[in-house]
Amino acid sequence: MTVSKKRQPPVSKGQKLELEIERLNHEGEGVGRFQGFTVFVPQTVPGDKVIARVISVQKSYARALPETVITASPLRVEPHCEHFAVCGGCQLQHLDYSEQLRRKTEMVRDALQRIGGLDVPVLPTIGMSDPWHYRNKAQVPVGQEAGKVSAGFYAKRSHKIVDLTACPIQHPANDQVVHVVRSLLAELAIPIYNEVEHQGIIRHIMARTSFATGEVLVVLVTNGPHLPKAEQIAAELQAQIPNLVGVVQSINTRRGNTVLGDKEKTLWGQPYLTEKLGSLQFRLSPRSFFQVNPQQTEVLYRIAKAYAALQGSETVFDLYCGIGTIALLVSDAAAKVVGVEIVPDAVEDARQNAILNGITNVEFHLGAAEIVVPKLYLQGYKADVLLVDPPRKGCDEALLKTMAAMQPERIVYISCNPATLARDLKYLTAHGFTVNDVQPVDMFPQTAHVETVVLMSRL
Ligand code: SAH
Repeated sequence: MTVSKKRQPPVSKGQKLELEIERLNHEGEGVGRFQGFTVFVPQTVPGDKVIARVISVQKSYARALPETVITASPLRVEPHCEHFAVCGGCQLQHLDYSEQLRRKTEMVRDALQRIGGLDVPVLPTIGMSDPWHYRNKAQVPVGQEAGKVSAGFYAKRSHKIVDLTACPIQHPANDQVVHVVRSLLAELAIPIYNEVEHQGIIRHIMARTSFATGEVLVVLVTNGPHLPKAEQIAAELQAQIPNLVGVVQSINTRRGNTVLGDKEKTLWGQPYLTEKLGSLQFRLSPRSFFQVNPQQTEVLYRIAKAYAALQGSETVFDLYCGIGTIALLVSDAAAKVVGVEIVPDAVEDARQNAILNGITNVEFHLGAAEIVVPKLYLQGYKADVLLVDPPRKGCDEALLKTMAAMQPERIVYISCNPATLARDLKYLTAHGFTVNDVQPVDMFPQTAHVETVVLMSRL
């Protein structure tokens, strides 16, 4: 047996390195090499020459922070946001937008090759003509330091809350909610949650704004059922937030990073807002998922529907269906649509949404797709087309196995994580399917995230 001799990293913590940035990793950090050893440097772009200080060293890579830009890459642009250097939300504001799109296409191609072993063409990422102010949802932690209430975001890789002045990727109404609630909390002296001591009341502010209807829903997350001066807060919000449709209290008494709790109280108005996509309306509850970029969502769904190529006679599955958006959008072109979703409120929304839009050829099942779909299959359900849109961790293998066994004509896979997409496509291509089209869509401009829709067909 030969033992491969691992060489020691040629860098150490604190060392300053001169690096040329060659490419971006999947987190949007610049990648350079020092004596062949990989070094990740956030906030740099390909073509930069920088001096960076090493902050951590692992076996196969190191991380370093840029100290001086010796030569700036021509791909660099001035970030719009004053918080860019400290906020963890965006990673690519300093990279020219058309270049962001090219890099995202590359990220998808790279993941499919490296993880999926798939050498397939990837279409150019579809971007936005105005890649700012696109988000419909803000979810910000609230904290207090030296008596001052702050609401904003966690500084990169930490839990220090930085006060937000404005977020240039948000709908302005969401920024306004944050400002108004923060002032109210200070004025009314509402106790602010401290996550170390697990004491205090207000933990998070969530704001959702519909681009289509203008409706705004505010959710206040509290560490316990009692919110002092709740009526006064709700009344002030009504006075100060145009188009407010509801104020909801979400009760989360658990420690940890999950934002919303399991219990909700409506403090004023209704506990949901109404969204629109095309000619359909959707009721959206606080705990239900909805894509954060409504403009690009229309693009994404249009492609998914085209890929499904429905003739009207098919049975279609919409797995990980959320509030039923895709199921309802394709229902006019199919005989029957079966949706599966794990969040009870989302399934309830989906059922209400079918009624709201007068759609009768859809049914929604509550539960984990990897448990529900094998059961339905055993009961004799058939699928001509499967649409899947899982969260970042991708599909469970039990689900992939059933998907392959169901032998649909086509699978349309929507993914927000190229790595798990590649892993799942590898499974499906080994079990009777081929990849026809791979289309990334930029749902998250200025960040390193990318959404991809893939058409597969049965061999
Ligand atoms: N297709 C929807 C939602 C996609 S997001 C849309 O476009 O709006 C992924 C969804 O999968 C979320 O609603 C989440 O609650 C749900 N989910 C997560 N794990 C699941 C599982 N194991 N089985 C079914 N649904 C799941």
